[in-house]
Amino acid sequence: MLDFFCMKCGVRLHTDEIALYRKLINRGARKYSCLNCQAEYLNVSREDLEKLIEYYHRTGVCSLFAKWDDETRQ
Ligand SMILES: [Zn+2]
Repeated sequence: MLDFFCMKCGVRLHTDEIALYRKLINRGARKYSCLNCQAEYLNVSREDLEKLIEYYHRTGVCSLFAKWDDETRQ
């Protein structure tokens, strides 16, 4: 697994944070931001985003979350 860091504050990113960034902000992005910075950008709370991640995992509706591992190996 490659390491990615938040382009704003520099913290190491979890794959869920990257998936959410691509889902909510920019699907073709090569740079990402952490949950805190995404929440700030979207003007929502970090909690809202965590619930959203949980929701995507539970329902499996978002292919970005399921396909992430394959895409990073390319
Ligand atoms: Zn950040």
